[in-house]
Amino acid sequence: MTIDLRSDTLTQPTEEMKAAMMAAPTGDDVYGEDPSVNALQEYAAALLGMEAALFCPSGTMCNQIGIRLAAGPLTEVICDQYAHIYRYEVGGIAANAGASVRLIAGDRGRLTAARVAAEINPIEMHHPRSCLVSLENTSNKGGGSCYELEEIQAIHALCRQHGLRMHLDGARLFNALVATGQHARQYGQYFDTISICLSKGLGAPVGSLLLCSREELPAALRLRKVMGGGMRQAGYLAAAGLYALKHHISRLEEDHRRARILGQALASKNGIAEVLPVETNIVVFKPEPAWMEPQALIARLAAANIKISNFGGGYLRMVTHLDISDEMIERVVDVLQAC
Ligand SMILES: *Cc1c(COP(=O)(O)O)cnc(C)c1O
Repeated sequence: MTIDLRSDTLTQPTEEMKAAMMAAPTGDDVYGEDPSVNALQEYAAALLGMEAALFCPSGTMCNQIGIRLAAGPLTEVICDQYAHIYRYEVGGIAANAGASVRLIAGDRGRLTAARVAAEINPIEMHHPRSCLVSLENTSNKGGGSCYELEEIQAIHALCRQHGLRMHLDGARLFNALVATGQHARQYGQYFDTISICLSKGLGAPVGSLLLCSREELPAALRLRKVMGGGMRQAGYLAAAGLYALKHHISRLEEDHRRARILGQALASKNGIAEVLPVETNIVVFKPEPAWMEPQALIARLAAANIKISNFGGGYLRMVTHLDISDEMIERVVDVLQAC
């Protein structure tokens, strides 16, 4: 039995999901004629309280379209120093939007209105025009940390006052909603654009959605096309995503419960210097260098068929997901205790 905790992108579609995929009616989505893609987009838009949604091959593409809608040359995007849009999207903010980036050292990947306020540029010749605040919920680098709705509201009020737009990298938004009891529909009112991933904790094989206004949908469609994201009979994939939105949200609580068990096992173990608070399905921890180097612990676990990732800076990451069972968690805890 291999236990793969490297990422929640590793899930295989369930039999029920595969059945939904094979039964999907399809058409050419570049013509807007794929009924399964259209059904997914309408369902997701209603779920999040947004007017429109666009099915894309990846979360990166959704984020980049959202950013490009807001930012261009001579403007600046404000985000946390650990934001996926900055660290893991190949410098796309510069390549796709030609914009500059203002990084904030937030709290486990999260910004506050006060911190953002201090980084909005005055409107003056020397400065790029601050145009967009991008939040990530949950924050991957922050160890799956979640925003309080009050903080999002405060940042939103600040952005409205200064004429800045808001983007949400919601690759794992549903983990945040399940963990905090917030409602998806509340999000639409605060963000101009939202990206959500269907292929992370929700367990679909491929796909993400960009949510936006009806007015901006044509511009978003053009940006998706220029990035090469216009797909044809994408309905087979969209059907997996729709199945995931209908059946795999509330079960995320199980992933969170299993992640907490891993976090507790690590916290009570000698040789572990730090475990970030476990709020959702991500467990980030740091072994004492004097006990074991991160790479050595990865190898030790790999020898027991347990895969985890090196998260950089001495940290390691484990992520629970649809294909991780209670039995697997027990085994990981046993192996960790014996390390
Ligand atoms: C995975 C992820 C994305 C999108 O990644 P893709 O691999 O391009 O789908 C965006 N933001 C965060 C925080 C992520 O974890």
